[in-house]
Amino acid sequence: MILVSACLVGINCRYDGSNLLNDHILKKFKSEGFIPVCPEQLGGLSTPRPSASIQNGTGSEVIAGKTKVINVNGKDVTKEFLKGAQESLKIAKLGGVKKAILKENSPSCGVNFTNSDFNKVKGRGVFTAMLKSEGIKIFSEDNFEGA
Ligand code: SF4
Repeated sequence: MILVSACLVGINCRYDGSNLLNDHILKKFKSEGFIPVCPEQLGGLSTPRPSASIQNGTGSEVIAGKTKVINVNGKDVTKEFLKGAQESLKIAKLGGVKKAILKENSPSCGVNFTNSDFNKVKGRGVFTAMLKSEGIKIFSEDNFEGA
């Protein structure tokens, strides 16, 4: 089973209440089935919500407790991001997930690029880093050949 960032399959879970529906992903995986998750919602954050960014670092540093996730109003949302990643990982394990297609550039789901200090930077988001450490193969919406 494959896990997909929920916003990529049309769920209105983004910080601004929108989605980023990717028809190619939906078409390719609809028949075989997929599990959509939004780690930020599963961490208890509302939709819409203030946008958030990793402070001077990437997802693995948040997991290691070396940095935080701060929203645009200056509120520390690290706890919510970590809880959401853990709950999403639980879902992945329950579903026997081996692969995931995640949303590039997000502080949660970014694959090759995430968001640090409200800028695009190289590195993984919090949820992606957690999935990767569990041996799950990660693809982005920009390149999911082989998924
Ligand atoms: Fe949710 Fe991830 Fe999409 Fe952000 S990128 S809205 S955390 S599924």
